[in-house]
Amino acid sequence: MQSLQEISIQYVKGVGPARKKLFQRLGVETIEDLFYFFPRRYEDRTHLTAIARLKAGEEQTVKGRIAGCSSRRSWYTKKHVVEVILDDDSGRLSCTWFNQPYLASYFKMGRGVVCHGKVDMYKNSLQMVSPEWELIEEKEKGNLNLGRIVPIYPLTRGVTQRYLRKTVMASLERYKDHLVDELPIPLRNKHRLYNIKRSIAHIHFPKTLEEQENALRRISFEEFFFFQISVIQRRLSITRKAGIPHHTSDAQTLKFIQAFPFELTGAQKRVIQEIRADMQRPSPMLRLLQGDVGSGKTVAALFGCVASFENGFQSCVMAPTEILARQHYENIVQLLAGGRFPPLRAALLVGGILKKEKEKLHQRIKAGEINLVIGTHALIHEGVIFKNLSFAVIDEQHKFGVRQRALLTEKGSNPDVLIMTATPIPRTLCITLYGDMDISVLDEMPPGRGKIKTLLYSSEQSPEVYASVRDELRLGRQAYVVYPIIEESSRRFSEAESRDPDRDNSSVGRNTDLKAAQEMFRYFQKEEFKDFRVGLVHGRMKPKQSRETMARFRRKEIDLLVATTVLEVGVDVPNASVMVVEHAERFGLAPLHQLRGRIGRGQADSLCILVAEPETEDAQERLKAFLSTQDGFKIAEYDLKIRGPGRYFGRHQHGLNELKVANPMTQLDVLELARKEAVTLTQGDPRLETPPNRYIRDVIRRRYPTYLADVAAG
Ligand code: ADP
Ligand code: MG
Repeated sequence: MQSLQEISIQYVKGVGPARKKLFQRLGVETIEDLFYFFPRRYEDRTHLTAIARLKAGEEQTVKGRIAGCSSRRSWYTKKHVVEVILDDDSGRLSCTWFNQPYLASYFKMGRGVVCHGKVDMYKNSLQMVSPEWELIEEKEKGNLNLGRIVPIYPLTRGVTQRYLRKTVMASLERYKDHLVDELPIPLRNKHRLYNIKRSIAHIHFPKTLEEQENALRRISFEEFFFFQISVIQRRLSITRKAGIPHHTSDAQTLKFIQAFPFELTGAQKRVIQEIRADMQRPSPMLRLLQGDVGSGKTVAALFGCVASFENGFQSCVMAPTEILARQHYENIVQLLAGGRFPPLRAALLVGGILKKEKEKLHQRIKAGEINLVIGTHALIHEGVIFKNLSFAVIDEQHKFGVRQRALLTEKGSNPDVLIMTATPIPRTLCITLYGDMDISVLDEMPPGRGKIKTLLYSSEQSPEVYASVRDELRLGRQAYVVYPIIEESSRRFSEAESRDPDRDNSSVGRNTDLKAAQEMFRYFQKEEFKDFRVGLVHGRMKPKQSRETMARFRRKEIDLLVATTVLEVGVDVPNASVMVVEHAERFGLAPLHQLRGRIGRGQADSLCILVAEPETEDAQERLKAFLSTQDGFKIAEYDLKIRGPGRYFGRHQHGLNELKVANPMTQLDVLELARKEAVTLTQGDPRLETPPNRYIRDVIRRRYPTYLADVAAG
């Protein structure tokens, strides 16, 4: 039987090559994708209400006969109106739809219809405007939209709920039997889990909400189970490898700690010792360093680089953007220049440098003349050959893929790896999801930082906002004003993906926003901030240009910097103490937290102003949470609960991106159960070599190919 991964969505009835593109926008290419394209939520539309009992202001479902239908153009609004009078013997209800004249051809006198929508009072009688509808004839074939628990999917322009439901149902009918159950039967029986066919069917079209819960539980269990096994396997494979032992004496370590112009925090000292112990061991280190923005992760990274140098090896730091790489480079060079550290020779390697220069740099790296290379993904270019790389730092702020990390570590012979992230991850999660890594946490902020005040304003209050920004600028401070990147489908795609260059030009929305930033920049220059120096950076600029602007901002030659979200990642300008976020309702909590982390880095008190019109409940809650705390862990927990981890971390985040469905925060019980089973199973047979387990090994190799790439090799 053909695997569902191999069957393109275009072969489903009603899709075809043209509509295939619409599905692509939702991330759906194959039948399997569609099966795993789960509803965002469900609406219980099983209850019918008699027309006589309808109440204005409520969402209700009615069923009746068509007792009249008119189709006309309103002279007043110029819109086309189709109006249907629905009769159910208890009363009559008017239903109207705008600008869909073709609807009239469906609504023949006497036909039965079910309508669902909000009931309004209009000129003393009840009506529904643009309700969802379904003819009763269709219903006999099994109704999808009304009179049942209805799935509500994430949408993109050109795709309606009706169409999605129909397409999902059509593909279930035709391809459901292709689904292969991979969960071991004894486990299924033991925990009374649905089989896979039933689960997928009930995720989309449950008869009761309980059925839906059971289906989700089964699918999440499976996902957790295989994922846990892969984590355990990977851990084993790492400890089996031969790495490079680095020896660092107590005296050397103490000297390093005392070389900084400031006293290291207790957390920094602890983490340095953790890294040191790891690096001394003969098996390779794989450590995740979590630390909220501003907690001073660079210090810990530099320790590893120095240890590597003192043992006669090379090290590297890979950052997600050129701005960040350059910033790391400048900071580190400045520290090294004082002569208080061992004499490392550092170099910057980014995409923007000239070919000739780059070749020379490649030469010097290969010859071992450079001890520390700091750069972007230019580091993983095949032309880059290290003489003897022993320590690699990946400063990722969750932007690198597993593959890119693997490519970097392949530049050495099992080098020690430190991954730094500013995304706080709640502890319970960490143990289970990052079981293949050791974890360090910088849970203490350097002292002497000013406080951050966070305020919320509506866009009408902009004059006030600008006035307070001017006040701050007059005190010699600097400010950021940030505009969001908006895409039509931004709800579906993580930040990282929306930055994908392939998607760039397809997005009209983004151009508009870029325009917003550019227009505001000009307006600020000419009006609001004409007495100050205003700069602009955005993601579409030439790197050289944005680099220069950033450098000028750092040198205080710019007072106010207008930016799109390129700022989100670790930019560090201590004198900048004001952050204005425009359209803050469009940001997720994690990016907002990152943005706020750009300020409060100096001694002065800082001001974070959100300008927002939160219309949805979600957005309101998000902003409320953001105003209530500055603790990254609290924000992360909150975000995980409401959004699920895949989206929180970005789909490229190690590990978590493998979880499509399961949410470890809300399904901790399922996760723990699955983990226990995974541990039991691997205990007796760690390499999954006995016949009943061999197929499990195949399953995880197929599901996590890059993640496990080096397990196969090791
Ligand atoms: P992170 O990458 O964790 O956001 P950085 O390593 O960039 O943080 O450090 C942020 C700023 O704090 C830098 O300017 C750094 O020099 C400074 N810093 C780091 N550790 C300390 C400390 N212990 N005391 C004072 N300042 C520190
Ligand atoms: Mg940083």
